[in-house]
Amino acid sequence: MFRSKTFLFSALGAAIMAFSGFKTTETKTSVNKEKYAPGIVLTFDDDYVDDWYNAEKLLHPYGWKATFFICKYTQLTPEQKRKLHYLEKMGHDIAGHGFNHENAVKFSASHGLDGYVNSEIIPLKAAMKKDGFNIKSFAYPDGAHNPALDDKLLGQFDFIRGTTYGELAPENQFCYYEGKRVIYGLGIDDDYKQFNLPYFKSLMLYAKQHNKILILYGHKTVDNADEKLETPFEALQQICEYAVDNGLKFYTVDELKKL
Ligand SMILES: [Zn+2]
Repeated sequence: MFRSKTFLFSALGAAIMAFSGFKTTETKTSVNKEKYAPGIVLTFDDDYVDDWYNAEKLLHPYGWKATFFICKYTQLTPEQKRKLHYLEKMGHDIAGHGFNHENAVKFSASHGLDGYVNSEIIPLKAAMKKDGFNIKSFAYPDGAHNPALDDKLLGQFDFIRGTTYGELAPENQFCYYEGKRVIYGLGIDDDYKQFNLPYFKSLMLYAKQHNKILILYGHKTVDNADEKLETPFEALQQICEYAVDNGLKFYTVDELKKL
């Protein structure tokens, strides 16, 4: 009975990963599970700099750390760029999410892998570097990727983040750091089906009990989540509070490299 249930979850998980473009040939980093503290990686995508700045003001007392994956960097205002520098100064990680937020699978299918890198990665890195941001990791727009893209982009970044979905049992989830350079975050925007704080806490408890690092992702951090791609402050506060109460360490994606 138990075995068939496990199999069912695994099969379901495989289907979910296939949907999100699963599979990779990435190499493992040297990681020793005994040596790092259990923790949580909070990541946010797109260009919601003003909202993330507000989140920092609210969540700073928890000692939180986040990784912000930026797209459309050249369209940010000087004030937003200053806020991004402020976030970096406060210990957060600034990373990449595509120059124009093109879907990597679709774009590379019509323009080739080099075409994708030349249009979406090189100009983003250059524009951000010019302003002092040395981006070391990347999140796929729409979570869309394939093994060829993974191989290509691992030549450009230390870590690449995809996405995963669904309320799988913790032991069957894909949203834990497994010592690999392609990582998967679980969505915490409130329009996702798996948006469920007790469930998120059960994943955090599992991380604590099994010495793992949970990876989550959201988009716009807001007071009232009434549109798509919004993570409510209330949820973030509860997640941060639970992390602190249970001794989970906040990691940035960049910090995984040091483990
Ligand atoms: Zn995005």
